Amino acid sequence: LDAAYLCGPVTVNAAPAASRSYSSGTQKVTLIPGDGIGPEISAAVQKIFTAANVPIEWEAVDVTPVRGADGKFGIPQAAIDSVNTNKIGLKGPLMTPVGKGHRSLNLALRKEFNLLEGYKTLYDDVDVVTIRENTEGEYSGIEHEIVDGVVQSIKLITEEASKRVAEYAFQYAKNNNRKKVTVVHKANIMRMSDGLFLRCVRDMAQKFPEIQFEEKYLDTVCLNMVQNPGKYDVLVMPNLYGDILSDMCAGLVGGLGLTPSGNMGLNGALFESVHGTAPDIAGKDLANPTALLLSAVMMLRHMKLNTHADKIERAAFETIKESKYLTGDLGGRAKCSEFTNEICAKL
Ligand code: NAD
Repeated sequence: LDAAYLCGPVTVNAAPAASRSYSSGTQKVTLIPGDGIGPEISAAVQKIFTAANVPIEWEAVDVTPVRGADGKFGIPQAAIDSVNTNKIGLKGPLMTPVGKGHRSLNLALRKEFNLLEGYKTLYDDVDVVTIRENTEGEYSGIEHEIVDGVVQSIKLITEEASKRVAEYAFQYAKNNNRKKVTVVHKANIMRMSDGLFLRCVRDMAQKFPEIQFEEKYLDTVCLNMVQNPGKYDVLVMPNLYGDILSDMCAGLVGGLGLTPSGNMGLNGALFESVHGTAPDIAGKDLANPTALLLSAVMMLRHMKLNTHADKIERAAFETIKESKYLTGDLGGRAKCSEFTNEICAKL
């Protein structure tokens, strides 16, 4: 099964997602409800969007791997076509089999659409955006056993992907009135791989003289992040570091149930919550839908539907602030459906 994802085509389209106009009429958005709590929180977002009269039409797709003509398993063509056509999607969490079985569908989707990832935090004293290269590094999936008892995983870094994420980070900082970009690395140890990544970000910094630029080791950033997160503004880093640091930032601002994210690709954008399928609470109406809802709000802003985005975000924040209908992860007793209904009532 692994090979299907390793050999699968990586779609790189010259036309950037931004070239598509989202400004008028009803737009189709691909919906991947996901596993575990995914269907519950996706239903919550759909209900809130309907209550807010958001002019989009959901196109739900199944991403369960199917066997292709070549005998290899991969994402169903219908799902790929849907994202390629709509250029935008909202995705619930997908389960990743541990050790054996097919490789992460999340990884396959990010590779398929050549996506980068970043997410925004919610509270005033922590206002950090982490931007992570999302297709290579230690997560390239190139692993093999050399001899019995000795395995090797390849950390793959390319100039192309590094330059692209570097440019996205500086452009993001510029477009969103951010002051500083910090590159997070371990080029002191990983001289070649992180060295190349660092060089690409350094070169890009020259093209954005209005944005302050600094270089920090990953361990230093971890220490500072828990002691004084206000030091940082926009962070850009290779894949693995971004995976870990983004969850740490999520913990700093109230947990995984709250943090949204967006994967920005050359050929489309896919928005998803940072958390996983939460198997411990799946099917019990206990999940907090906020992270997926705020990911959907990021999606609306990306589609330039800012009025709808602001309205939904305000209703969600007010519901959380009032604290009457909080889900268990936030110390409350409300069900996912009660929290959702309260947001709808505030629209
Ligand atoms: P998890 O994020 O699913 O759960 C961690 C803890 O946080 C659990 O106690 C869970 O109940 C809680 N939690 C998570 N989301 C919540 C929400 N919305 N409301 C309330 N509580 C919430 O992490 P895990 O248990 O390590 O992973 C479970 C599965 O999800 C694994 O198969 C993993 O690979 C997958 N996963 C998928 C994604 C993705 O699709 N992007 C991301 C992370 C993990």
